[in-house]
Amino acid sequence: MDEKNSDQPVVKIIGRSDSARAYAIRDFLTRGDIPFEWVELKADEQARQYGVTGLNDPRLPVGICPNGTRIENPTIRQIAERLGWYHNPSQAEYDLAIYGAGPAGLSAAVYGSSEGLKTVLIERSVVGGQAGTSSKIENYLGFPDGISGADLAKRARDQACRFGTEILMLREGVRGEFEPGKGTGYLADGTKIVAHATICATGVRYRKLGLENEDAFYGVGVYYGAGASEAQLCSNQHVFVIGGGNSAGQAAIYFAKFARKVTIVIRGDCLRRTLSQYLVDRIHSSPNIEVLSRTEVIALHGDHVLHSITLRNNLTGEEETFETRWLFLCLGGEPQTDWARDVGICRDSDGYLVTGPDLSLGGIRAQNWPLERSPYYLETSMPGLFAAGDVRHGSVKRCASAVGEGAMAVTFVHRYLTSA
Ligand SMILES: Cc1cc2nc3c(=O)[nH]c(=O)nc-3n(C[C@H](O)[C@H](O)[C@H](O)COP(=O)(O)OP(=O)(O)OC[C@H]3O[C@@H](n4cnc5c(N)ncnc54)[C@H](O)[C@@H]3O)c2cc1C
Repeated sequence: MDEKNSDQPVVKIIGRSDSARAYAIRDFLTRGDIPFEWVELKADEQARQYGVTGLNDPRLPVGICPNGTRIENPTIRQIAERLGWYHNPSQAEYDLAIYGAGPAGLSAAVYGSSEGLKTVLIERSVVGGQAGTSSKIENYLGFPDGISGADLAKRARDQACRFGTEILMLREGVRGEFEPGKGTGYLADGTKIVAHATICATGVRYRKLGLENEDAFYGVGVYYGAGASEAQLCSNQHVFVIGGGNSAGQAAIYFAKFARKVTIVIRGDCLRRTLSQYLVDRIHSSPNIEVLSRTEVIALHGDHVLHSITLRNNLTGEEETFETRWLFLCLGGEPQTDWARDVGICRDSDGYLVTGPDLSLGGIRAQNWPLERSPYYLETSMPGLFAAGDVRHGSVKRCASAVGEGAMAVTFVHRYLTSA
C-alpha cells in the first residue's frame, strides 16, 4: 500500500463528466485518499488520443497506471485489485471481527490489534465511513485547524495496519450466525469469517429522497453525502445541497469555494435548529450561499444525466424548476441491520442495535438475554456481539463518540473473552 503515501498520481482516470462509473471511481479514490489524475473528455478527437474511438466508446472510462498498463471500463474492485487493496482473509479464525471501517470500526481495530487480538476489519466500500466523505471535520479533538475525513481515515487505517489489523475492503457482511464464543459472518461474495467476538460498527446508509427516477441519476447529477470528490468540478455552476444537518452545512461551505452559487434546501423553517452555530454563522456570511426553507425537491428531470430539479415551497405551494447538474443529498441515514433481525438480535423501532443497560428496559432483557450476568455496556442481546458508533441505539452521531465507542467496545471484548 506504499503508493498512497505519495502525492504523485497513482492512477489516471479518463472519461466523460456524465459517466456514473467514472464518478464512482473518483469517489472511491478520493475517499481512499489515493492521488489520481482525472482527465475529462470533451471531444472525440481528444478521446482518440487515449486509444478509444470517441466519446461514446463503451471502453470508457479508462484507467492508466504509472507503469502504463490500462484497464478499460473498470469496476471499483478491479481498480482496488490493481492497487493491491483486495485480499482474501489470511486466517481461518480470528479473535475479533469488526464490520464497518468508519471511525468506530477503525478505532476498535487500532485498540483490538494493539492489545494483542488477532483482528480483522471488514468494509463494504473504502475505509472512513461517513466521516471519510467530509471535506473538513473541525470539532475532532487535536486538530484545531480541522482535518479532511479522507486524511483522518488514512491515518487511522495506517495506524490499524501498523498494529497488525487485517483489512478486507469491498466486502460486505450480509448474514451472521452466533453461538457461545463463536460468531460466523457471511460476506456477500460467499467468504466466511469466524471470530470469538464481533463488533458491529456499520453506521448508517444515506437516506434517499424517494423520487421515482432518483436511482437513474445517481452519479450523473444526484450524489449522496458531501461529494468531496466532485467539488472542484462544480466551478461556476449552481449547486443544490438538500438537508439541514451539519453534514449539509459543511458541504455547502465547501462547495461555495468553487461553485457560482450554492442553494441549501431544507424542509424546516431555519438552519439554527439543526446546525451547529459556527456553521450557521459561516453560511450567513457567505455571499454565494442561499437557504430555501420549508422547501422540498419534488421532481428530477433529465435524460441520461440530471438537467434540472423542481422545488416546492410547502408554505405557499409555489413550485419552481431550476437548471442544475449538481444535487447533493445530505439527509442523514438509516442503519442496515436486517441481518440482526433475522437472528433475533434486539433492535429499536428504527433498526438501531440495542445494547447494555437499554436491553433491560421494557422487560426485553428477560425475554432474550441468555446469561446470568448483565450485558456489558456496548453488548447487544447476543453475548459476544457488540455494537459501536452510529449503528447503536442512542449513539451521539459524532466522530469522536464513534471513536470512543470503538475503543470502549474492545475493553468489553476482552472481558467477554476472558469470561467465556
Ligand atoms: C458529510 C458528513 C460530515 C460529517 N461531519 C462531522 C463532523 O464534522 N464532526 C463530527 O463529529 N461528525 C461528523 N459527521 C458524523 C460522523 O461522520 C459520524 O457520526 C461517524 O462517521 C459515525 O461513525 P461510524 O463508524 O459509527 O459509522 P460510519 O461512519 O457510518 O461507518 C460505517 C462503515 O460501515 C460500512 N458498512 C456498512 N454496512 C456494512 C456491512 N454490511 N459490511 C461491511 N461494512 C459495512 C460502511 O461502508 C461504512 O464505511 C459527519 C457525517 C457526514 C456524512
